[in-house]
Amino acid sequence: MRPEVLNPLFVESEALDGVGPKLKKPLDKIGLARVRDIIFHLPERFVTRRTVGNLDEAGEGEQIVIALTPTEHRPNRNGRGPYRVLAQDALGNVCALTYFGRASYTAKKLLPVGEKRWVAGRLDRYGDMLQIVHPDHVAEEGGDMITRLCEPVYGLSEGLTQPKVASLVEQSLARLPDLPEWIEPTLLAKAGWPVWAAALKAAHHGEDAAARDRLAYDELLANSLALMLVRADNRARKGQPLVGDGSLRGKLQLPFPLTGAQNRSISEIEGDLRQEAPMLRLLQGDVGAGKTVVALEAMLIAVEAGGQAAMLAPTEILARQHYETLRTLAAPTGVQVALLTGRDKGRARESILMGLMDGSIQIVVGTHAIFQDTVNYRNLALAVIDEQHRFGVAQRLMLANKGKRTPHTLAMTATPIPRTLTLAQYGEMDVSRLDEMPPGRQAIDTRVVAQERIADVVEAVGRHIAAGQQAYWVCPMVRDNEMDDNAAAEARFAALRERFGDQVVLVHGQLKPELKDAAMERFASGAAKLLVATTVIEVGVDVPASTLMVIEQAERFGLAQLHQLRGRVGRGSDKSTCLLLRGSSLSETARERLALMRETQDGFILAEEDLRLRGGGELLGTRQSGDAPFQLATLEQITRLLPQAHDDARLLMERDGGLTGPRGDAARILLYLFERDWGVQMLRGG
Ligand code: ADP
Ligand code: MG
Repeated sequence: MRPEVLNPLFVESEALDGVGPKLKKPLDKIGLARVRDIIFHLPERFVTRRTVGNLDEAGEGEQIVIALTPTEHRPNRNGRGPYRVLAQDALGNVCALTYFGRASYTAKKLLPVGEKRWVAGRLDRYGDMLQIVHPDHVAEEGGDMITRLCEPVYGLSEGLTQPKVASLVEQSLARLPDLPEWIEPTLLAKAGWPVWAAALKAAHHGEDAAARDRLAYDELLANSLALMLVRADNRARKGQPLVGDGSLRGKLQLPFPLTGAQNRSISEIEGDLRQEAPMLRLLQGDVGAGKTVVALEAMLIAVEAGGQAAMLAPTEILARQHYETLRTLAAPTGVQVALLTGRDKGRARESILMGLMDGSIQIVVGTHAIFQDTVNYRNLALAVIDEQHRFGVAQRLMLANKGKRTPHTLAMTATPIPRTLTLAQYGEMDVSRLDEMPPGRQAIDTRVVAQERIADVVEAVGRHIAAGQQAYWVCPMVRDNEMDDNAAAEARFAALRERFGDQVVLVHGQLKPELKDAAMERFASGAAKLLVATTVIEVGVDVPASTLMVIEQAERFGLAQLHQLRGRVGRGSDKSTCLLLRGSSLSETARERLALMRETQDGFILAEEDLRLRGGGELLGTRQSGDAPFQLATLEQITRLLPQAHDDARLLMERDGGLTGPRGDAARILLYLFERDWGVQMLRGG
């Protein structure tokens, strides 16, 4: 149960003045559903403005406050283009106040012709006209009121404005409860950090490194503590020791020798499985490093020892593909492998459920359907989770309670992250690294091509498939106000199909599952030559015969994501090519990203660069999958503050015997505040 003192923070944002159904939507869109989320929505930066008497005094790109008198409204024509209000300064210089989308309604009200207004915003140039796009403030009186020297700039979504968010933040800050201190007093004093509530207020009101550090530290401490609680709980659980006799593994007829890294990982897993405490191990290996065989060996150990193994995949497509791979590889062993997804209904499903219950099915592959309550195992001994980053710790814990005794867990991820971050993200697990690629892989020839040359690219694809080879075509991610990505993929698909006929297939997230499967199957079997897709193919899809990858508007993807996508090719022994199509106006960062993709294929290097280029605000693009581990701590802060947080968490665990006493109570509040409740729940189990 959440401590009562936190209740004011966990009320919905509607409880704040001025938040109705209309504002609720844009707030939810950027994760500001509750007061708690709003207080942790820290400013991206602060602006300082200068009051100028006229436009001549202001520089382009400068943040200014100025008195302007509107002279003319120019509405957008038939709903397209911006709404412009022309306005004059004291000298008669003209400037346009420009509004896009729904913001134009505000413009009509705020800027009546002939009446002087104080306007705050960034002065820019559009063609030969000066303009301020979406002024931050428009006021009738008192230029001084809006000349606040230092004003926070918040992340917004369509329908939100800076003043609106600032007012919600202020209201939320006024509701801050008095919370006990969870940070070690000596550390707090030494670092010179403010107490929690003061730190929050300071972080919203100006650039304050100490305040930001304290808040980041809180988050890191909560995370370390929760991971340690999970680990402690795991150690106290009884699993079943699994000792295989090698009888099944001996029958495998792998078409290749295992790499040193694969062998090492398998022995590490074998060692864990012998223990009574359940295994909690992460297998980290770049795309194509060969995680699947390692998982198979682990599952065969479980079966040799008389247990069952289940492999959880994040998507239907992947589940199906793993199933095919594992069934083929395991065929010589005589082990029964089954596929179970949410789509299986009726008799087929019943028969699989029976097989799992009576033990005649020894290995099952599937989506989360395999861990539903209605699925019972005779003796589930090992759970393998592919693409770990799509599952939160909480979900993993759910399946820990699935068997009579806690099953061993092997998590696998293809997201290469730097060692320091592995601790932050997977601190509760032991780690095996596949840091060696199977031999014979060729470098992928990566080129950056301007989007205008798309006709040439289509020709190149044509030659490629005419030569009997296969290719992927990835369609861009889509931003607000544009077609959604499925529609974009549909459109591209239609065009390519016109050109290449039914050798082209399409896969995207909204396609009917049967159609998706049929398309994948035609592509995997080689019947179709070109697969047009959205990023659904990002994770795990394995068609070694496909040797060309086209990524449209590559600048819209993060490095980690591009790396994952590119990893779909270069899987066979043939030379592969990756064409990164780029738009015409690239930011400096985007340019750097694409250059890096050309230069290196090392996932760990790309991961570190990805973090550097993102400024550490987002970890490896995990935000897209909805489980970014940190909301506040930046990469720099993680690197600097995590070791201390880790030690402090250990101290709390050891000295205070698992969160007893007043500091233990404070730490419990901290866990709930950062929604590491699953950490607290461990306390009951252990
Ligand atoms: P990932 O780590 O991305 O899941 P996979 O397990 O899908 O990688 O393996 C990628 C490809 O490499 C597969 O086609 C697989 O058969 C092959 N492979 C795996 N291990 C080896 C090895 N030791 N030598 C050669 N090829 C291998
Ligand atoms: Mg894989």
